[in-house]
Amino acid sequence: MATANETAPVRDVVEYVTYAPSGHKCSACMRPVKPMEAVRRTVVDRSSGPPLTTYRHANDCPKSVAA
Ligand SMILES: [Zn+2]
Repeated sequence: MATANETAPVRDVVEYVTYAPSGHKCSACMRPVKPMEAVRRTVVDRSSGPPLTTYRHANDCPKSVAA
């Protein structure tokens, strides 16, 4: 009856499009993110250690096309 128990094993993943602070690199293509370039920010809440925050190009990432 209950079918709500088969979701992703990774808990508390927050992902949204924003602008990265300067100095960050795209985690997919490893290129520096430009100040006004939209990125997809992903925060994974890990059980051990601080939350892991990564940034990827939201639109114009050469790696995201094939991936
Ligand atoms: Zn990229």
